[in-house]
Amino acid sequence: MVADAQRLARMLGELGRVTDEPGQLTRTFLSPAMQRANTLVATWMNTAGLATRVDTAGNLIGTLPAPVPTRRTLLLGSHLDTVRDAGKFDGALGVLLPIVALATLRRRGISLPYNVEVVGFSEEEGVRFARAYLGSEGYTGRLPAAALTLRDASGVTIKDALRAFNGGTFAAPVFAHQRGDVLGYVEVHLEQGPVLENEGLAVGVVSGIAGQSRFTLRWVGRAGHAGTTPMKLRRDALAAAAEFTLAAESLARKTAGLVATVGMMAVEPGAANVIPGEVRHTLDVRHARDAVRRAAVATLQRTASRIAQTRGLKLTWQKSQDHAAAVCDAALTRALGRSVRAVQGRELSLVSGAGHDAVVLSACVPATMLFVRCREGLSHHPREYVATSDLAVALRVVDDFLMTQAPVSAP
Ligand SMILES: [Zn+2]
Repeated sequence: MVADAQRLARMLGELGRVTDEPGQLTRTFLSPAMQRANTLVATWMNTAGLATRVDTAGNLIGTLPAPVPTRRTLLLGSHLDTVRDAGKFDGALGVLLPIVALATLRRRGISLPYNVEVVGFSEEEGVRFARAYLGSEGYTGRLPAAALTLRDASGVTIKDALRAFNGGTFAAPVFAHQRGDVLGYVEVHLEQGPVLENEGLAVGVVSGIAGQSRFTLRWVGRAGHAGTTPMKLRRDALAAAAEFTLAAESLARKTAGLVATVGMMAVEPGAANVIPGEVRHTLDVRHARDAVRRAAVATLQRTASRIAQTRGLKLTWQKSQDHAAAVCDAALTRALGRSVRAVQGRELSLVSGAGHDAVVLSACVPATMLFVRCREGLSHHPREYVATSDLAVALRVVDDFLMTQAPVSAP
């Protein structure tokens, strides 16, 4: 597997040079680089024996049929789009690793008793239309009509972009499989966090993907002179926002698995000698269980109201995002866990704090994920890195998983 992992690393490097912006990696939904990426990955799929097509949502789909015709199909994949100035592993790893795994089976003369479909989703990061999962929603026939009217920075709607991509026609994509025929969806992805590195493990299985609530809070107090206004007469919006931020941190620290972040804050009027009269900031709350997340949000809302009341401020909350948690399929995750134990000796189960295509797929087929250790937990960054030795471990896990899903035929 070492030579295969080295080949995978070279392919990731080559795909990482397919970009819309010279000097850095940026590939967005339906862009010219995205189409070149589809062409390049399709040649690798073809070499591994897969037949390729691109669906009406721009997803690249490679299919390897079982030698004896069957409708039972295993899906593997991830996204081929990137954030701006991205690393080369995010998304690409989950598309290219299955291709290399299937190529090694072919070289060994092994055929699987079920069809395998490898999908490179056209959009997951939400860069072009500020809305994520367009690729996987299109692939599963779940792209909402309301999303089609969203516009990119140049005013083009999603519907018009898809129409242009499909040579002037638009047809809402439909899922090509009957749900009951799909054995499952497995997504290999770099962890984008520090847990595996901290545990000294190359890979881990994902038990679920955290639900997420995002809000904008606005505190309105009264600006005033920093030298002449006595402390007891102040209505300082920043002091209130700071008290709230610490309360959110404290609640998350004492609630297992909860993360809460105030990541953006704007202070008005914003001068050294003026008491802050207005503060606007974000709040992002995530947990693997929706009930825990909702309870935490309710607690923080009460805390914020109390702070506003005590300090004599006006407070408004605005919800900007609310995604339910996704639970990985228990049987499929157990099977992947067995392969992890067989290869690595120890199995670690993780909750994904970031969203993935598996969220969308899990709504219609059994889905699970394999996380691969990344250096310093760093992702969405050009220095994002997965060691080739860890690629080799992930390849062996996927190989074991493919071979143990059903009896295989070897020469
Ligand atoms: Zn990703």
